[in-house]
Parts: sequence; structure tokens; C-alpha cells
Amino acid sequence: MKLVLASDNKNKLREFRTLFENFGVELISKAESGFTEEVEETGETFAENARIKAEAVMRATGLAAIADDSGLCVDALGGAPGVHSARYTGNHDDSDADRYNLLLRNLGGRDDRAARFVCSLCCAFPNGDVLTAEGTCEGTILSAPRGENGFGYDPIFYLPEYGCTSAELSGEEKNKISHRGKALRAIKDELK
Ligand code: IMP
Repeated sequence: MKLVLASDNKNKLREFRTLFENFGVELISKAESGFTEEVEETGETFAENARIKAEAVMRATGLAAIADDSGLCVDALGGAPGVHSARYTGNHDDSDADRYNLLLRNLGGRDDRAARFVCSLCCAFPNGDVLTAEGTCEGTILSAPRGENGFGYDPIFYLPEYGCTSAELSGEEKNKISHRGKALRAIKDELK
């Protein structure tokens, strides 16, 4: 089965390809499908945004499409940056470091540093079928970044059970415990 990943994010494409290895699914990127438009994420939840993106790409390409919407929710910031994780500084061109540094400034010296990554997945099929799944990964926010791997907020996201940040894990280790890994394994079970 051909499945379009409704994203242009190279990190996500790499993680999805790894997770779909040996699954009988040919995962192609949005660009490879010929779809060049930017789909506006107008939803208020991760699940709504994932569905908006998957259905837009499925309708435009006529192929089954899978989309994820993910982000970091920090309890002491009322769940922010949440669905706004990718545009937390207000400027898409800012770097990951700009975004996590803003988060560190906003959190300041607060004691409550609990946070979680959330990933909602939606797979939309041309016959109208829709599959959804969600995964979360619990952690805490450090006061300074650590580690070189991963992307986004990984360097400030500490995993107490593993004694490191998610930027200090290898790609393989991260896939085993990440919000996206969990959601993908759940949707793979449904796809079977
Ligand atoms: P999306 O493309 O709208 O889902 O954007 C999600 C944003 O959340 C990304 O740009 C990152 O800033 C952040 N994010 C999502 N998943 C991860 C992760 O696994 N590690 C670090 N940051 C993440």
C-alpha cells in the first residue's frame, strides 16, 4: 500500500520510515506525492489538526494519507506551547533553539516542570475510512539544553526513567519510548 506522509518535516519522515520498515507500506513524502500546498492547521487539538492534514492530502492526491500533529505540553504553562509548538515564537523561520529558549524563559525558575510530548495520528483513506491513534511521553523540563540528537524541544525534555534528555537518545531508542513511536505502533495495529 502507498501511503503519503502529510508533512514536509524531514525528521518526521525519517522517524516514520523507520517505524514502517518491513510493514508492506511504501511511505512517500508530501513532496513526492506532488502536493505542494501548505495545509493550515486551524484545529484546537492535536487530533483535529492531524485529521485536517490527512484529509487534505488524501483528497488532493487520491492516495491514503497519514498525518501527525504533535507538540510539547508544559503543565505550569497551562499546556503551552501545545498545538502551537512549531510556531511558539510567532515566527516559523526561528530555530528550534529560539523556541526552546523562549519556553525556558517563560518557565523561569518554577518548581513544577512536568511536561509531556503528545502525538495524534490520523490515517485517511479515499473510501472515507479514518483511523486515529494517540501517544504520549512524560518528562520534565530542564533549565538548560542537553544533547545533540533529535529535534525541536528534545534537548530540554528530560526523561527521569532514562536519566537523560530525548536529545541524548539514539533515534532507535527514542522511537521505542516516544509519543510518535507509541502512536505509530497503535495505528499500525489498526492498519493490520
Ligand atoms: P507539527 O509539525 O505541527 O506537528 O509540529 C510539532 C512541533 O512540536 C515540532 O516542530 C517540534 O517543535 C515539536 N515536537 C513534536 N515532536 C517532537 C519531538 O519528538 N521532539 C521534539 N520536539 C517535538
